[in-house]
Amino acid sequence: MERVRADFPILSETLAEGRRLAYLDNAATTQKPLSVIRASDDYYRHANANVHRAIHALSQRATRAYESARDRMVDFINAASRDEIVHTRGTTDGINLVAQCYARPRLAAGDEILITELEHHSNIVPWQMVAEATGAHVVVVPVEDDGSVSLAAFEQRLSDRTVIAAIAHISNALGTVLPVAEMIAAAHRRDVPVLVDGAQAMAHTPVDVRALGADFYAMSGHKIFAPTGFGVLYGRRELLEAMPPYQGGGDMIETVSFAGTTYNELPYKFEAGTPNIAGAAAFGAALEYVGGLDLDAVAAHEHALLESATAAMNEIDGLRIIGTAPGKAAIISFVMDGVHAHDIGTLLDETGVAIRTGHHCAMPLMERFGVSATARASFAAYNDQADVDALIKGLHSIQRIFG
Ligand code: PMP
Repeated sequence: MERVRADFPILSETLAEGRRLAYLDNAATTQKPLSVIRASDDYYRHANANVHRAIHALSQRATRAYESARDRMVDFINAASRDEIVHTRGTTDGINLVAQCYARPRLAAGDEILITELEHHSNIVPWQMVAEATGAHVVVVPVEDDGSVSLAAFEQRLSDRTVIAAIAHISNALGTVLPVAEMIAAAHRRDVPVLVDGAQAMAHTPVDVRALGADFYAMSGHKIFAPTGFGVLYGRRELLEAMPPYQGGGDMIETVSFAGTTYNELPYKFEAGTPNIAGAAAFGAALEYVGGLDLDAVAAHEHALLESATAAMNEIDGLRIIGTAPGKAAIISFVMDGVHAHDIGTLLDETGVAIRTGHHCAMPLMERFGVSATARASFAAYNDQADVDALIKGLHSIQRIFG
């Protein structure tokens, strides 16, 4: 993976006092390879124009860049057609779209929306908002002590009132990989559609939406080496077709008159206003980049770093890892006796190690484990054993100071 590391210019950034950067905050956002940075730069140098509207050469280039990202995504996640790929601002935007356009019109008082206890706030709050507006309830599948979600517990909570289930593919806070294919199959046996929050999954594991059976799959480009502010919502055509748009404006219409407006075809019906065209161009480059990686080798590499870090952290007195589910992704959440998570983050930063501290936008999950915050190290393809060594060295010195 040394070749991968060399593709990311920021990783050779030297911090104050000559410290080497060990970037272990990949679950928050990933760094960008040169090809992605160049795609954004190229777009503004050679193509900048608005999409879909003009016939001049630049507009055609811009439209091509914007639409070819969609075509790449079709192949990347094995969607049935480009009509099923809605460009969004990211996972949060995609989930809100489904909550407002699919769930809200279908929810009545007493109906249920099924989620799990480990969800990110962006897969909790949109459901609470539509529940509040309709009198529906959010039902929560509890998390087990090791951070896993049991298929049986999920199945038990599906009811005749469940209108939709919304579940993470991988937990950003613990790294737990949920048995999404089995959960989707269980939901489908009761005719319940499932939205998968794929924010954490795409950079680490191949995603085939049709093999999973997902009805909706929301993701963010910035978690997979693309810029912030661009993502994709995959939705099964039949469902998207039946959904009204919830944002009106340019591009999403077919005809507008004061007597009434008709909407554009899929997927444009859900893409009101001038989109993030440079973001799409760079996202396309990110998919090309990831497509060129051996994802099995990446998974094995990240797993080796996870194992190495976990073993070394288990040797540190007073350090407790939260989330030990079998088969977890390369994310380690932990607490240390007598040290606040923020102090761990600050002290590690002084050694060049970047981790995340806080509730990770998963406050109910923190409450479940009786903590207000954890420290979290999360790995990507470009991390190496030197990053792990820097983390462990830093943690030992923190333990010596506070222990
Ligand atoms: N869900 C999960 C599991 C996440 O990790 C994140 C990002 N931390 C989100 C949703 C929200 O993604 P975004 O902020 O890019 O919309």
